[in-house]
Amino acid sequence: MSAIFAAQAGTQVVVIEKNATAGQKLVLTGGGRCNITHAGTVDDFVRVYGKSGRFLRHCLHEFSPDATRDFFGRIRIATKVNENGCVFPVSESAGNVQYALLDQCKKLGVQFVFGRGVEGIKKHGAEFIISAGKEVLTAHKVIIATGGASYPDTGSTGDGYKLAKSLGHTIIEPKPALVPLITSEKWCAELSGISRDNVTISTMIDKKRISVSGAMIFTYDGISGPAVLDLSRLLADYFPAQKPIGIFIDVVPAMNEAKLEEYLMGQLSQYSKKIIANVLFELVPKKLGGLICSQAGITETNASQLKKEQRRKVIQLLKKLPLSIEATAPIEDATITRGGVSTAEIDPTTMQSKICPGLFFAGEVIDADGPCGGYNLQIAWSTGALAGKLAVK
Ligand SMILES: Cc1cc2nc3c(=O)[nH]c(=O)nc-3n(C[C@H](O)[C@H](O)[C@H](O)COP(=O)(O)OP(=O)(O)OC[C@H]3O[C@@H](n4cnc5c(N)ncnc54)[C@H](O)[C@@H]3O)c2cc1C
Repeated sequence: MSAIFAAQAGTQVVVIEKNATAGQKLVLTGGGRCNITHAGTVDDFVRVYGKSGRFLRHCLHEFSPDATRDFFGRIRIATKVNENGCVFPVSESAGNVQYALLDQCKKLGVQFVFGRGVEGIKKHGAEFIISAGKEVLTAHKVIIATGGASYPDTGSTGDGYKLAKSLGHTIIEPKPALVPLITSEKWCAELSGISRDNVTISTMIDKKRISVSGAMIFTYDGISGPAVLDLSRLLADYFPAQKPIGIFIDVVPAMNEAKLEEYLMGQLSQYSKKIIANVLFELVPKKLGGLICSQAGITETNASQLKKEQRRKVIQLLKKLPLSIEATAPIEDATITRGGVSTAEIDPTTMQSKICPGLFFAGEVIDADGPCGGYNLQIAWSTGALAGKLAVK
């Protein structure tokens, strides 16, 4: 995106890419379907980004989610919005998005140096000297768009942090985010593969309530799924200093406690001869019901024998199933990296370094991130477009 906007502004652009082609991570996005962005206004995006929102506001106004969809429409990537507000290409092909961007670069005369990783960037007077293997290039402006440190097989191995640091920048500690969570409880393994379409997960840290909603799945060492990935982004700042972090899962958020009690009492009288786990089967998957019964100490109890305090315990577990989070899964498994080049040292109106004039940043290398749903690619599109346009200016 940076290369396209810089070339459109009429300058000679060279992209140095360590892989044999560009956009290796892009082709993996959205499970191969590429969740390009999200439906919503700039204000919606700023709110969703949380602490990154203020820094991103200007570039989102300069190249908004709507402008992004218009741009992709112009390069023959028509988009559609799903029921959750996520924007995908109509073709549902991330490969098509990658191809369209590379094709646009080609049409604008962008040159690519593939298979060369940038190892050093030095500033001499007004010029940058860039070393990449045997290649040494000079440039008036440099845009670092090397991504984060997650999914390193795609090429993003955190090189941008070293390059930025060598030019005087501060790096906020990169941490895995949008990543599965590892629990102290070993029973998650028994439920591995069991999923819920909608849960609410909440916790309280430093007197701050954190809450996320959406789908989740139990895994062999913890929990995953969209709601959990979003939670991991919010917990990342606290690991490893604070651990374990206690969380509660509301596995039936559609019913409040009173409604749930009324519903359960109806079910218990209707199926009075069944054991409780089988009564709960109407509400939650059988294995999860079994776990709740075992935690409530009523594995073999029939519905007709259930005492009031045992019923209260079941309701409590359905509404507030406790788990202790030990850690996030490693950065190699993370969708994004939280942290990166400090936004305090980047001008939000240009993406130019405040420390090293002529140096710009775009994308995940910057300490800015968002939840699942197309918000991270939007950061790459908006910062990339602004950096490309303004680097030329
Ligand atoms: C599995 C997966 C699915 C995802 N799905 C979505 C989604 O659907 N929607 C969404 O919004 N976000 C999604 N993301 C996040 C999104 O892909 C990233 O935030 C986005 O790709 C960041 O773009 P970027 O250009 O900053 O970095 P990257 O896409 O990581 O690109 C950086 C490029 O720089 C190159 N590079 C690195 N170091 C050097 C060097 N020293 N020299 C030369 N080249 C170098 C790399 O090879 C790479 O090609 C997903 C991420 C993953 C891992």
